[in-house]
Amino acid sequence: MDVKKQQVFNRVINEGIEFIRLQFIDVFGVLKSVNVTPDELEDALEGNLMFDGSSIDGFARINESDQCLVPDPDTFQFMPWRPTEKGVARMICDVYNPDGTPFEGCPRGILKRVIKEAREMGYELNMGPEGEFFLFHTDSDGSPTLHIHDKAGYFDLAPIDHGEDARRDIVLTMKQMGFRIEASHHEVASGQHEIDFKYGEALKTADQWVTFRDVVKNIAKKHGLYATFMPKPLAGENGSAMHCNQSLFKDNKNVFYDINGKYKLSNIAFNYMAGLLKHAKGMTAIGNPIVNSYKRLKPGYEAPTHIAWSNSNRSTLIRIPVRRGSATRIELRNPDPVANPYLVFAVMLKAGMEGIKNKLMPPPPVEEDIYNLSEKQRKALDIDYLPRDLFAALKEMEKDPLIEQAIGSHCYNRFLEGKYKEWHEYAEQVHQWEIKHYLAKY
Ligand code: GLN
Ligand code: MG
Ligand code: MG
Ligand code: MG
Repeated sequence: MDVKKQQVFNRVINEGIEFIRLQFIDVFGVLKSVNVTPDELEDALEGNLMFDGSSIDGFARINESDQCLVPDPDTFQFMPWRPTEKGVARMICDVYNPDGTPFEGCPRGILKRVIKEAREMGYELNMGPEGEFFLFHTDSDGSPTLHIHDKAGYFDLAPIDHGEDARRDIVLTMKQMGFRIEASHHEVASGQHEIDFKYGEALKTADQWVTFRDVVKNIAKKHGLYATFMPKPLAGENGSAMHCNQSLFKDNKNVFYDINGKYKLSNIAFNYMAGLLKHAKGMTAIGNPIVNSYKRLKPGYEAPTHIAWSNSNRSTLIRIPVRRGSATRIELRNPDPVANPYLVFAVMLKAGMEGIKNKLMPPPPVEEDIYNLSEKQRKALDIDYLPRDLFAALKEMEKDPLIEQAIGSHCYNRFLEGKYKEWHEYAEQVHQWEIKHYLAKY
């Protein structure tokens, strides 16, 4: 057994761990898990744990359903909210085919492949996602309700902020799991919160994002609350985002920074940003993957609606936060927290790389509030809409060959299949709004 696997073994024995959760993510970003006991750990570490891939959304067909999990020993973590005696630890896994080859549709494998392509060009992607979510009360069965748990706003504190204890507990749990927390605060909407952890290498950050969602939900539950990452749970209020702050490093230096460049940004930064802008429409379905995602992307809620960039304007798709030097970064603001982080990071990196390879340059920044520009003014500035619903986003995804290149044919086809089905199911429904406006009138 190699050193890393042996270390996992030692920790399991020394810390009296009785359950090891092997976790992985399906195509639609949902965390899945199977428990093994220490007796089975050696076998599991060798990648011998088979599962029924046909029962996982977007994975295998029933006639070719055997798949295996290969745990990444670097992701071994004790789960602090489970009992400390006979405790629980987890490892995040890659999905493999029974013949020992990586499974093409494994989202973690997909991100690893795109990271490798970037490394071949000499670049390392660093990612810093910002995590927004809502806390709601639960009913007597513990099911979520739509009763928000406070009426506080941006940066408010207790006693109007009712989330401080849950947030404190979430932050402390994340710290126990190796996160470095940069900030946590009440967000703009009632019952809405944000926690930001330190940026890092993209694969590690995607793993951390998945862990973050798991921690938030479980700790909220301990406080009798329900945490949701649904992008727009309340009409008329801000929605929840996963802003993606990204930078490229070469030899440990941030290559987006250039003291002599325009806005102190390098050509590489402009090329990367132009790649993101060029593929913004095609990537939207990946970063905004559910029907509800598009209810958030409406004017007036600090969420982007149009394809443009700026230096500090929060109505644009891309913003360049003021920090420079090693903190120079591009913030892509449309992704939301239900997106599959492995796929979002993979398509962004691929789009950025294309921008660099083809030396693309972005149009000038837009410093006006885009929400307030007229259609005519936007046209004059050549500012285009982001797709306005899931259907439009899927159509754009089909028009942009880069997306299939980034996520591979398997994932691409299953994603489209699943998401068109989701859209059609939604589109068939008769909504309350229609009843209210049409039933009596016509
Ligand atoms: N919640 C806003 C969004 O949906 C972002 C608000 C902010 O962090 N400034 O994008
Ligand atoms: Mg923030
Ligand atoms: Mg925020
Ligand atoms: Mg932000």
